[in-house]
Amino acid sequence: MSKKAEPPKKEMPKEEPKEEAKPEKPEKAAKPEKKKKPDKKIHMLYKVEGDKATRLRPTCERCGTGYFMADHGNRFTCGHCGFTRYKHAENEHA
Ligand SMILES: [Zn+2]
Repeated sequence: MSKKAEPPKKEMPKEEPKEEAKPEKPEKAAKPEKKKKPDKKIHMLYKVEGDKATRLRPTCERCGTGYFMADHGNRFTCGHCGFTRYKHAENEHA
């Protein structure tokens, strides 16, 4: 019977759970509420002054009131029917 060479045992120092003096964290500070992206920025289309709500966008002539036209810089476009209306330039030298 030959002696079985035992692999050298690695003596691992037992890791004792360190009890660090952790500064007590205050419970999660109130996070800023996640802003849900509304499908339509309908609130952007109105400007509320007192008890009056002013529409900031023109409504579609074809679709009628309730259908706002998108501001495309120099023109408004209705996303519903595709109607496009050009803005009237303020400084128009004709
Ligand atoms: Zn329209």
